[in-house]
Amino acid sequence: MTDKKVSAGQPRIRMDADGLRDDFEWHLRYTLAASPDELTDLERYLAFSFAIRDRLVERWINTQDAYRHANVRQVYYLSLEFLIGRLLTTYVQNLQLEKEAKKVLSDKEISWEKIRDVETDAGLGNGGLGRLAACFMDSMATMKLPCMGYGLRYDYGIFKQKIVNGAQVEEPDNWRRNGYSWEIKRPKLSVHVQFGGQAVIVDIHGRKVWRWSPSERVIGVPFDLPVVAYGGKNVNTVRLWSAQADNEFDFEDFNRGSYIEAVETKVIAENLTKVLYPNDDNDQGKELRLRQQYFFVACTLRDIIRNFRANNDDWRRLPEKVFIQLNDTHPTLVIPELMRILLDEEDMPWDDAWHIVCECVGYTNHTVLPEALERWGLPLFARMLPRHMQIIFEINSRFLRFVSSHYPGDINRLRRMSIIEEGNVQKVCMANLALIGAKKVNGVAKIHSEILKNDIFRDFAELWPDKFTNVTNGITPRRWLLKANPGLAALISKNIGNAWISNLAELKKLKPLADDNGFLDEFYAVKQQNKVALAKVIKDTLNLVVDPESIFDVQVKRMHEYKRQLLLTLYIIMLYNRLVENPGMDIHPRTFIFSGKSAPGYATAKLVIRLIHGVSELINNHPSIRKKLTVAFLPDYRVSLAEAIIPAANLSEQISLAGTEASGTGNMKLMLNGALTIGTMDGANVEIHEEVGDDNIFIFGLRANDVPTFRRTYSPLDVYNHDLEIQHVLENIRKNVFSMLTPGIFDPLLRNLLDQGDYYMHLADLREYANTQDKVDALYRKRREWDRRAVINVASAGKFSSDRAIAEYAKNIWNLQPFDIPDDKP
Ligand SMILES: *Cc1c(COP(=O)(O)O)cnc(C)c1O
Repeated sequence: MTDKKVSAGQPRIRMDADGLRDDFEWHLRYTLAASPDELTDLERYLAFSFAIRDRLVERWINTQDAYRHANVRQVYYLSLEFLIGRLLTTYVQNLQLEKEAKKVLSDKEISWEKIRDVETDAGLGNGGLGRLAACFMDSMATMKLPCMGYGLRYDYGIFKQKIVNGAQVEEPDNWRRNGYSWEIKRPKLSVHVQFGGQAVIVDIHGRKVWRWSPSERVIGVPFDLPVVAYGGKNVNTVRLWSAQADNEFDFEDFNRGSYIEAVETKVIAENLTKVLYPNDDNDQGKELRLRQQYFFVACTLRDIIRNFRANNDDWRRLPEKVFIQLNDTHPTLVIPELMRILLDEEDMPWDDAWHIVCECVGYTNHTVLPEALERWGLPLFARMLPRHMQIIFEINSRFLRFVSSHYPGDINRLRRMSIIEEGNVQKVCMANLALIGAKKVNGVAKIHSEILKNDIFRDFAELWPDKFTNVTNGITPRRWLLKANPGLAALISKNIGNAWISNLAELKKLKPLADDNGFLDEFYAVKQQNKVALAKVIKDTLNLVVDPESIFDVQVKRMHEYKRQLLLTLYIIMLYNRLVENPGMDIHPRTFIFSGKSAPGYATAKLVIRLIHGVSELINNHPSIRKKLTVAFLPDYRVSLAEAIIPAANLSEQISLAGTEASGTGNMKLMLNGALTIGTMDGANVEIHEEVGDDNIFIFGLRANDVPTFRRTYSPLDVYNHDLEIQHVLENIRKNVFSMLTPGIFDPLLRNLLDQGDYYMHLADLREYANTQDKVDALYRKRREWDRRAVINVASAGKFSSDRAIAEYAKNIWNLQPFDIPDDKP
């Protein structure tokens, strides 16, 4: 830290415990007007967080000034989701104020854990995609990369999940109920966004051209969150837009005396950023969602362009200064919106504008599930964005002419590649628009990027092979090891130093320690401590006692058929049956820990939650079986809960049908925390296998390449008829063993599995999965051997740092250099 110069004597900046204490007390009194006699934990948390925030402001302003003065090239990371979780500990840790923070609180006999847990998770995302954006922001700041994240400031983030009688119930997540310490509102940077109306022909100096004449206008107000580098000076920004009614625009309504109508219009406008859509990997073509996407893109582009124009007067330099990364197709409207600005507002010729756009945009694909590729009904699209519709038609017709010239007469190819999908209702296909407009397209794990090139985007990869690349996802070690698992972090640092925190490849130095019994004992002790801590969480939330000596077998992620929580549930039923038949069967006790939300309208996923609860009800209350098996479903999976579960896991369940999970990042978090993976050859599991080798992972199941052929002749009924143990599992479900009070409730699951082809092939993989689980049991009994392999997993996790992923983006896609904040700045 080189804060001495600026800090001399100044409150709000002093990085010592006394300065922090003074400001903590100052904020209690003067920001919160709290009486020292009756302080609440909320007041303590708020005052403390303001005191911490003060300590990053200088660096934040300096970083942004330095970027501006140097007119640096910047990357803009556009994501409709940022699943950032809690921030207090991250700021304290990245500012390296941990010792001081703990001293200030302990001097006042305030519990650090209690204060930390007052903070509500900012759940502005669904799952992996949103969490990836958050990990990437942490890495970009730590690696000194000039970047800005853009998103929406939803009033309600991902819903809160309650479980009532074994079923998911959703409650609104009013995450800013108590205010939010970390955001800064920036009204002066507000922008206008327009919708609707018509495309009209106007006369410009005798030239007839198309322009947009919109009919509605709203205001986008930005709120900024600081992103502090670990131990460094760079403080980047995540800018989240909030919608506000434009009173000026509706002024005529007020004047005409239609006061109520005018206020109604205001309410509709402000509903725009009211709620995050809770669908993971699925889009329903809802009007409000398209409005959110355009609002987001329009605000963000205005902001990026204002930033660019402040320093540059030549539009042709835009690709030199600006690169826009699209986190999935959600922000793809950047392409037609930037075209519209260049054509209609800057009067640029088409070819020049298109050239600029194509140099500025990258597209990251996150899914191969066909139902998850975004398509908007053309009538809806044309009503909301008539001028953009025209521009998309023009992009499409030029593109299709180009394709025809390469493949004359290949009508089917044109149909597949067109942005406009024909059919009963024409649809606008956002992935095709992104593929055409982007300079680079990437998948998020090796196998996923191969599937993009060889399968779903094959036509495009044939046309432009160099456009396609891979960047395997990563996770930030600052949150997922240093913060979430302080015991393991300390043990690692004691043995190999702490360079791993910003260079995770250093973990390979742990490899020799996998054969060091002293180290293995300490490693085991840390895991046991974490398991005891999680057992307490389980006791407190479910009133369920679990044995920390049992294997903690963990499947935590969004509930989705492709992720196959049902496969693990079927295996648990199989174990239950074995124990009923043979009560003395010798297995190591296991605690199955599930956590995950289902999309509110996803009936099958919700039914799996109910089945897990039906199974746990029976098993956890069985007089003898409960001594060997326990099933815990922890409600409301979110970042802070992940931070409690993952450090305690022994076994990581990554059992999606091969070819369906793009990458996964939960798999990486669990590996980094010393869990062994049981998984299919899917997503990043393939690369985890490559890093740890055959002996240190449990791989089973169909391979992605074999799935299509296998599917042609696959008969789940054959499995049912020939494998009597599997038959027994399904018969128990049918006989309502897990639904005595609600008979028949699981019939739809049975129909999916047996009569409707078992699309995700649970029964095809169940036998090999069960046999592999038996090997897990055998290995866990050889404690040393298990721990040895767990250590090898930690030691091999270096590749899965988001720092490595961001370095690849910076080099292969962004052409972006680190920027050092000059030394005269704090
Ligand atoms: C990491 C993470 C995910 C993604 O988990 P996967 O297993 O990769 O699907 C989802 N939700 C939360 C809260 C996470 O932290």
